Amino acid sequence: MSSTPRPTVYIETYGCQMNVADSELMYGSLAAHGYDAVEAPDGADVILVNTCAIRDHAEQRVIGRLGELRRFMKADSIVGVTGCMAQRLGPKLLEKARHVSLVVGPDGYRALPQLIDNARNGERGIFTTFDLEEHYEDVTPRRTDPVKAWIPVQRGCDYRCTYCIVPHTRGAERSRQLHEVVREVRQVVETGTSEIVLLGQTVNSYNDGTNDFADLLRAVGSIDGVRRLRYTSPHPNDFSDRVIAAHAEVAAACEHVHLPMQSGSTRVLKRMLRRYSREEFLECVDRLRAAIPSLVLTTDIIVGFPGESDEDFEETLTAVTAAGFSEAFTFKFSPRPGTPATRMPPEEMIADDVAGERLQRLIQVVRAQSREQNIALLGARTEVLLERVAKDGELLMGRTRDWKTVLVPGHASLVNSYHMVELTGTTGSTFTGTFVQESAPSRQPLPMAS
Ligand code: SF4
Repeated sequence: MSSTPRPTVYIETYGCQMNVADSELMYGSLAAHGYDAVEAPDGADVILVNTCAIRDHAEQRVIGRLGELRRFMKADSIVGVTGCMAQRLGPKLLEKARHVSLVVGPDGYRALPQLIDNARNGERGIFTTFDLEEHYEDVTPRRTDPVKAWIPVQRGCDYRCTYCIVPHTRGAERSRQLHEVVREVRQVVETGTSEIVLLGQTVNSYNDGTNDFADLLRAVGSIDGVRRLRYTSPHPNDFSDRVIAAHAEVAAACEHVHLPMQSGSTRVLKRMLRRYSREEFLECVDRLRAAIPSLVLTTDIIVGFPGESDEDFEETLTAVTAAGFSEAFTFKFSPRPGTPATRMPPEEMIADDVAGERLQRLIQVVRAQSREQNIALLGARTEVLLERVAKDGELLMGRTRDWKTVLVPGHASLVNSYHMVELTGTTGSTFTGTFVQESAPSRQPLPMAS
């Protein structure tokens, strides 16, 4: 007796880790409705593109990709666009791409199975309503990474940085209840995953009405089996003394913070509505470093924001040095329709070649600083969690607690295990290393996968 095959779904994810976590939620929700996940779009019954709207470039890539996906469709495949670009463009996406049947924003994933059924009956659907209660607590995500788990603890953002589309695409900030986060983390560590990454747009402003981010760090850090605890991305203004003390005292909290600076000029920061000055940012860095002496800091920086002068840009370069960043994600300003930065006077817009030249200089400064820091680490012995087989297929890629990438020779069966490694070489940004005999010091009970 032959049974009807289950319908298949393929999700392609763009953008930030929140989107990765949302795709895991969508897979989980659709699995509960009878769908099997597939790894490629060819012939999938449902193809979803989970999108990012933060830069124009990201949106253009998705538009191009939507066109390409046509050739993978069967006659009855359903194609949908989800995420921030879906929220931002809504019905315009249906007009732009006739083969797209669904447009679903970040608070609408619960409606996906119904919208897919409707699409099968020829009905194209849009769901872009914000739902300030929505945390998908009853949905079990389908996790694909055995090494680390992305755990959203907050959705939306209440800051209004003048360049940023996120408050428009993800709505107001709201936090999950602490006990729900703890429940999810407990389930995750039972599967052998020992690294937890808490996610939120301004994750350290977490507040569930009773507990703040310090409480959350302490609660998650005390769960048996959580050996590494990270969070991204914090806002400098939400690093209260309580939060910094919790980070310093929770043994599992790693010695790395990704702290978006965006600019080193108070004048530009003010126009970005970042709500801190250069001095306040650097003071936050000092407070973090005083509490966690071995802390490694990475950051995000935008160059070419409207009105950024040569002097402003020089201040960004000196702030990179003053903060001692080990790495920076650097971007040219990308105007997003509907954000206040697009309404700044046209004469203040920075020419693309000027912004491009600044970007190159910034990258050089960051690289040189990172190289100098990394060369000083050669010969050190450190704990590495092996994350995956590296691209060349011969080496394993792992990370130190302080977010350094290390390549070591080893068998794929070692993925998801901790080892002491001596750092023997560096390209300037990544390390090569060799295993050393010491066992990795156990800061928490250790779930070794292999
Ligand atoms: S803090 Fe600013 S940059 Fe970050 S998501 Fe909120 S508005 Fe955007």
